[in-house]
Parts: sequence; structure tokens; C-alpha cells
Amino acid sequence: MNKSNQQKLQRVYLDHSATTPLDPTVLATMLPYFGDTFGNADSVHYFGRQAAAAVDTARRTIASLIGAKHSEIFFTSGGTEANNWVIKRVPYAKQDKGNHIIVAAIEHPSIISATKQMEDDGYKVTYVPVDSKGIVDPDTIQKAITDKTVLISVMLANNEIGSIQPVAEIAKIAKKHGIAMHSDAIQAIGSVEVNVGKLGVDFLTLSAHKIYGPKGIGCLYIRGGQKIGKFIVGGHQERTYRGGTTNVPGIVGFAKALEIAVRDMEKNSTKLAELRDYFVSEILKRIEHITYNGHPTKRLPHNTNFTFDFVEGESLIMSLDLDGIACSSGSACSSGSLTPSHVILAIGVPEEKAQGSIRFSLGKSTTKTQLDYTIDKIVKRVDKLREMSPLFKQFTDGKKLI
Ligand SMILES: *Cc1c(COP(=O)(O)O)cnc(C)c1O
Repeated sequence: MNKSNQQKLQRVYLDHSATTPLDPTVLATMLPYFGDTFGNADSVHYFGRQAAAAVDTARRTIASLIGAKHSEIFFTSGGTEANNWVIKRVPYAKQDKGNHIIVAAIEHPSIISATKQMEDDGYKVTYVPVDSKGIVDPDTIQKAITDKTVLISVMLANNEIGSIQPVAEIAKIAKKHGIAMHSDAIQAIGSVEVNVGKLGVDFLTLSAHKIYGPKGIGCLYIRGGQKIGKFIVGGHQERTYRGGTTNVPGIVGFAKALEIAVRDMEKNSTKLAELRDYFVSEILKRIEHITYNGHPTKRLPHNTNFTFDFVEGESLIMSLDLDGIACSSGSACSSGSLTPSHVILAIGVPEEKAQGSIRFSLGKSTTKTQLDYTIDKIVKRVDKLREMSPLFKQFTDGKKLI
């Protein structure tokens, strides 16, 4: 056997927008709560009090890191639950005023699927378009408002193309009209400042596993005095607003992950943006018939998204996987299905090209060596796939004729 055959396939994880590995420090912080400190945070005895104290500390930490009060943080099973809670239960609490919801067309499926259900239940929903760079224009929101609008939800940064939205501006408009404002800040936190006061939002969603924390834990920030119906009912956890035995290790890990994410934000963002810019410029230099999707500057430092013409996205993902490279076609929830991403369609990529869109999302452990390896493999795989494409053959034959 020659040497290269003995070499282990190197693995390059470039899907940090789908999930991140657990930070070892976060894991260490969580471990005692799987062990001796296992109590139910609602129990009155010693074991319960220890667990409750840990949750209280974590809640205060998270609140202070986003400029909230601890009484405004409500833990959930993750971002999906928090988003469903807002979309389904804010309009319910404000039904005296109206039944109209405004969301951006590029929201995460946990928003869009919830608004679809609301439409089935008779609510009116406006899906506000974005420009070709994936940005919502506050004027478009303003124009969509009616006297029946009760909720506006616009994400702070998009998970597929990384575009950063003018949430503070939109929140001002919402406030002027007395409309509740929500933002899904899951992708943004750790990359851009998230302060509920400065953003002026009434509701905000966070999730731990996108910031090197554990899966299955997130929270909804609810501004004091804001009305929202209960969503998951059961015990009196989370001040009766969210029933279910408290996920103590998850909450403790979430707080630790957020602490690290905010502490290292500048450092990580600078490093990631540099690596990303290198990656993007090399890809654009070495591959023809390609579009870099999203905004050139108003974008997350770790996000890249390309449309490769004459390439079927899923085929590229699968062939790169053979090279040990992990990437995705955008939303983890739509990966594996062949329907083009609603985000890529929303920025105006034609349907026949949209399937060739791929996201490479970098992370804290990404290195230039890994990216160089990835760039080489992408170039080779794209070439190969195009060689097999009848459309590409037609296209190149056509060019020869001219
Ligand atoms: C991952 C993600 C979600 C879903 O959060 P979960 O905790 O995985 O349920 C929602 N919105 C955005 C923008 C995300 O990236």
C-alpha cells in the first residue's frame, strides 16, 4: 500500500450555520449537571435548589449579555420553538387589534412554516421581498403595514446567505405604529452586536447550538409588558409561560456558550472575515459561471454562498463529502430535498439555477490550509460535474459557434 492510501481522509467542516461543535469549556461547565447536580429545578429540596440556582445564574448571564432583564428571558427547546411561539401566540394575544402578520420572505423555515399554519387558520400574512443582495428595505415593511397588523418579524441575519437586516430601523417603524417587533437573532449573535435595547425589539430568539453550545436549548426574549399567549403549557416552569421540566445542563451550557461568543466576537469575526474573503476571492478567480450570493459587506463574517451554473447542488455536496468536505445547500431543513431554497429564489436567482446554490459556513477552527484543500476540491468537482452536464455541453458548443 502506498503512503497516500494510508493517509486518513481529512475532514473539513464548513457547515457551521447548520450547527457548531460543542466548545470543550461549555461541555465542562455542563457536566456536573448531568452528575451530582441532577435535581429538578422546581423541587423545593436541596437538589432542586442547586439546580434552580444554576438556572437563575445562567438566566442573568444571558440577559445581561443582550441588554435584557433576567425576567425577560424564557427558555425553550431551541430556536424553532421560540419562533413558533412568537408567530402563533403574539397574534392570539393581540386579536382585538387585528390578524395581520408581516415577515421577511427569507425567514427561517421555523418562521415561514408557522406563518403558513397561521394562514390556514385565517390570519393574513405578508411576505416582504428582499433586494438582490438579500436585504429587506424598511420602506417595503412600512408599505405593508395595515391597521390590522399586529406583528412584524425580521431576522437579524440570514442563515443561508448571511445578509444582515436593518432590524433597528424596522423596529422603529413597528413602534411608531404600535406593532410588536420580533427578530430571530440566532445566526447573528456572536458575529454582530445583539442588544435588545439598541435593536428596539419586543421579542428576540436565540439558540445555543449555533454558537458552540448544546442542541435543544434556546430562549425567547419577551420585553417586559409585552403580551404573548402561552405556547407549551404544563407545569409552572418559566413563570407558567413554558411548561416542561427545566433543561438545566442545556441552560448552563447555553449561558457559557453565549459568554464566550460575546467575549470573543471581535477576534473571531475579524479572523473569519479574512479567511472568508480569501476563500471567496480564490473561488471566484478559479471558477467561471458562478455567482456569489448575498451582500458584499452587510453579511456574517463566516458565511459564503455561491450559485454554480450547470451544477446540481446536491451532486456537488455529495461529491465534496467524498473528499471529506461538509457543506450544504442552505437551510439544513431543506437540504436533502430537491426544491430550491426560498431564500435563493427570493434574491432573484432563476429556478433552474437555484438548485446549484451551496453554502460554505466557516467556524472558529477553520484554517487557511483547510480552505486551500477545499478550494482545490471544489474546482475539480465542479469541472467534473460540468463535464457530465448536457446543458454545459450545449452552452460551450454554442460558444464555439460564435
Ligand atoms: C438554526 C436556526 C433556527 C432553528 O433553531 P433550532 O435551535 O435549531 O431549532 C432558527 N432560525 C435560524 C436563523 C437558524 O439558523
